[in-house]
Amino acid sequence: MRIKVNDIVQVINGDDRDVRGKVLSIDYEAGKVLVEGVNKVWKHVRKSQKNPQGGRLSKEMPVQLSNVALYCQACSKPTRLGARYVADGSKERYCKKCKASLGNIAPPKAAYATKK
Ligand SMILES: [Zn+2]
Repeated sequence: MRIKVNDIVQVINGDDRDVRGKVLSIDYEAGKVLVEGVNKVWKHVRKSQKNPQGGRLSKEMPVQLSNVALYCQACSKPTRLGARYVADGSKERYCKKCKASLGNIAPPKAAYATKK
């Protein structure tokens, strides 16, 4: 899984299906991802020093990584990611549907550079 924080993802399963949002944090160990505006719950809080009002707080809960797909801005579709080496030897992510580059993920490595 090559989703990163600040990526735009689309939920492909569950209650929030088709909702798009920005990735806020990722927990690889648990395989969960926190997406802005997805899986919102009301957290009921008592009156306290920090929260003199108490009441209901809206917050996102993490969703399963397998339930989201990266949203490709180039082809406007949820997509899968691939990784490939580019001419200068650096690695980049790309959209498997339209092949558009989605940013570098590794610095250039001479061994993988295509020599001219
Ligand atoms: Zn695409």
